[in-house]
Amino acid sequence: MELILDKNKCTGCGQCVEVCPFGAIELKDGLPVANDECRLCGVCVRKCPEGALALPEKAKKRDIQDARDVWVYAEQKGNDFTGVVYELLGKGRELAQTLGQRLVAVVIGHEVEKHAHKLINYGVDVAYVIDHPELKDFNEKKYAQVLIDLIKANQPNIFLAGATPRGRSLIPQVAAALETGLTADCTGLEIDPDTSLLLQTRPAYGGNIMATITCAHTRPQMATVRPHIFPRPEALSGHEGKIVKVEVEALPQGIEVLSFVQAEIEGPDLTEADVVIGVGRGIKGPENLKLIEKLACLLNAQIGGTRAVVDAGWLSHRYQIGQTGLTISPKLYIACGISGAVQHIVGIQSAKTIVAINKDPEAPIFEVADYGIVGDLFEVIPALIEEIKTRRGESS
Ligand SMILES: Cc1cc2nc3c(=O)[nH]c(=O)nc-3n(C[C@H](O)[C@H](O)[C@H](O)COP(=O)(O)OP(=O)(O)OC[C@H]3O[C@@H](n4cnc5c(N)ncnc54)[C@H](O)[C@@H]3O)c2cc1C
Repeated sequence: MELILDKNKCTGCGQCVEVCPFGAIELKDGLPVANDECRLCGVCVRKCPEGALALPEKAKKRDIQDARDVWVYAEQKGNDFTGVVYELLGKGRELAQTLGQRLVAVVIGHEVEKHAHKLINYGVDVAYVIDHPELKDFNEKKYAQVLIDLIKANQPNIFLAGATPRGRSLIPQVAAALETGLTADCTGLEIDPDTSLLLQTRPAYGGNIMATITCAHTRPQMATVRPHIFPRPEALSGHEGKIVKVEVEALPQGIEVLSFVQAEIEGPDLTEADVVIGVGRGIKGPENLKLIEKLACLLNAQIGGTRAVVDAGWLSHRYQIGQTGLTISPKLYIACGISGAVQHIVGIQSAKTIVAINKDPEAPIFEVADYGIVGDLFEVIPALIEEIKTRRGESS
């Protein structure tokens, strides 16, 4: 397939040469000629002031009509799947139902078929199992190759994966090889009712705006999502799905993994906590964390904070919540002296109940809070502590 040139319209101005992101166009005898590097991306077509360039009809529709189903990469952790896999299956099921397509999971590893059956209970219609001794441990080159081959053979419409360390190294390679778009770290996924395109929302421009991105011209539409953005669905009973084993041909060699060492993580894991108290600049200084700790102790809560607090050195970066920190999904989140910047909100949006304490009634945190207390946290928190103790029959 080649770029189409209308020689009668072309003036040989060379704007297509300048604009081509792949450096694939040169002028020969005053007319543009595209070489093998041309991806038919259409940038030159849009730039040409004379309308002399066009894409071949097939390139415009490349695989789009044939692409079907919503796929989820089922990353494993020990004998189970990572939590984000279940969250993506819940969202994927919703998207697949809206489109009238199937939910498909891809499991890669060795002796993993027994685990794949578990996915059927989460609404998976087809689970592809790619089982090979060389795939026992994660290896991004090998995993990427089997995913690329499977996607090329089946043409999924949408492909979702967790924005985990593995997902972040694996999925961009797959997207690049398939020459399709990838939206990383999405915080929202919906189907556009008019175009049926996947609307992929994520923070952009340093988190100052939420951008909604579509992948209109290539398939699959690929997105990664951080853990705890979407709720984990309940298992379904009686859902029927099938396991399809995929034969592996030659696997690429190159990187040899000699051993794995489990990282030692000290301190509480905020992402697993039921109750989290978030502290912001409103606590004034690290000496006031003692007050927050008293409340945390009563509620069996973990303490996290905003980037402002972390930058000030009041809390370690391990406890930063938000776009450049953790995404949490506790049952209860209490925001103390936090303004509610969008970069913070993206980290707490799947908390079940949000309580905000802020002395500024206009603080944006109140827009996302289920319960808001307008007041000075140095008065509100001691009063809360007293009230909890009184209700529990404890003396101060
Ligand atoms: C690229 C980028 C990434 C970022 N990533 C993150 C991130 O991951 N996480 C994050 O949190 N931020 C992040 N930020 C920073 C974010 O934009 C905000 O600056 C930050 O969240 C503000 O923190 P804060 O709410 O503690 O402070 P402030 O915005 O200063 O808010 C303090 C609040 O405390 C209230 N207050 C003051 N005194 C009291 C009192 N006595 N009682 C009650 N309320 C009181 C004030 O009314 C105010 O609303 C990022 C920014 C950028 C540009």
